[in-house]
Amino acid sequence: MSIYSKKEQEISHEIDCFSMLLIRLIVVPFFRGSKPSLVLVVIAASITGWVGWGEYQWQTNQTIGSDVVKMVSANKEGVLRCQTLSGAFFDPAVSTKGFVSSAEENVARVKYDTCQDLFSWLKSDKKTASLKQIQALGVLTHEAVHVSGEYNEAITECISMSKLEKVAETLGANKKLSAEISATYREEIHVRTPPQYQNGVC
Ligand SMILES: [Zn+2]
Repeated sequence: MSIYSKKEQEISHEIDCFSMLLIRLIVVPFFRGSKPSLVLVVIAASITGWVGWGEYQWQTNQTIGSDVVKMVSANKEGVLRCQTLSGAFFDPAVSTKGFVSSAEENVARVKYDTCQDLFSWLKSDKKTASLKQIQALGVLTHEAVHVSGEYNEAITECISMSKLEKVAETLGANKKLSAEISATYREEIHVRTPPQYQNGVC
């Protein structure tokens, strides 16, 4: 089964639950001859619009991230898959920001909070970047390097840092900010990574 169909199932499950709620509150009363409350209809329509818009933005940002994964990894099958909020709630590995599993080598998985930081930067004016947003860009690039087939963490970090400036520029930062993002990641984030992520040659 492809990852796309898995994601589609997650979405359709959430939509199914929401649809059942709407049916109970609005459709059932309608067919029983009693008018559903106008307030309920307005609330339902507002929630539907809000959920739909949020899902649209989520998918759009994830597609932009997938394009980065493809570019960095030179793997046309590479994709970004962000953890959902419900997935984050039950996640025991809270310190991990992203990973690629051997079972799904084309999939860069990034945790919910890190994706939110990435998405917040994508929708910004891209004139500045916070440390969290820079870290999110670094995690996306790092996992994309794993998708290329490199699994040594220190080598992955070296390759990732060499590509981060290009990634930032591709996503809309100007040359100055792209260089700053790359330098800040190297000087303030990479130096704090665990020893296996550092080998001192890059
Ligand atoms: Zn890694």
